[in-house]
Amino acid sequence: MAKSPEVKLAMFGRAGVGKSALVVRFLTRRFIWEYDPTLESTYRHQANIDDEVVSMEILDTAGQEDIQQREGHMRWGDGFIIVYDITDRGSFEDVAPLRSLLEEVKKPKNVPLVLVGNKSDLDHVRQVGTEEGERLAAEMACAFYECSACADEGGAVAEAFHELCREVRRR
Ligand code: GDP
Ligand code: MG
Repeated sequence: MAKSPEVKLAMFGRAGVGKSALVVRFLTRRFIWEYDPTLESTYRHQANIDDEVVSMEILDTAGQEDIQQREGHMRWGDGFIIVYDITDRGSFEDVAPLRSLLEEVKKPKNVPLVLVGNKSDLDHVRQVGTEEGERLAAEMACAFYECSACADEGGAVAEAFHELCREVRRR
């Protein structure tokens, strides 16, 4: 099997949307309820994507960094997952500004991006409709997944990470 260079992925989104829970789910297939919200970590992972071994480094940002740190994370990454929480409209409103900053920092490059609406298990307290997520992703010309770090039926979480790796490698 062909071996490819490392892909650097970074998670962005307001504190509490489930960035850490998604990373942990992707890496361990488990859900951890409480994860230190102030922790910033990087993880290494290898996955078989379309018959190729892809090595990735994943940066889980804490969401409390200042603008310099945030821009540093953006410069570091090759691809980005912007996460919002479907039960928190404010987190959805944070997406467009984050994307603008990414475009600004990565200029003139086209930024590989995936949009994730997390906590789909909490449909009864949903504040952001699926169509709204789809529409925003269409505007940003990126893939969109609604998923749940705690009830990941059908493996949408892994699919989001894999699609981002594909997107990075297409560029
Ligand atoms: P982060 O600040 O973006 O890293 O968010 P965390 O991963 O720390 O998650 C914040 C809170 O949301 C924690 O209490 C998690 O247990 C919870 N959480 C994360 N993902 C999900 C999910 O898919 N469904 C539900 N119900 N809760 C979640
Ligand atoms: Mg976190």
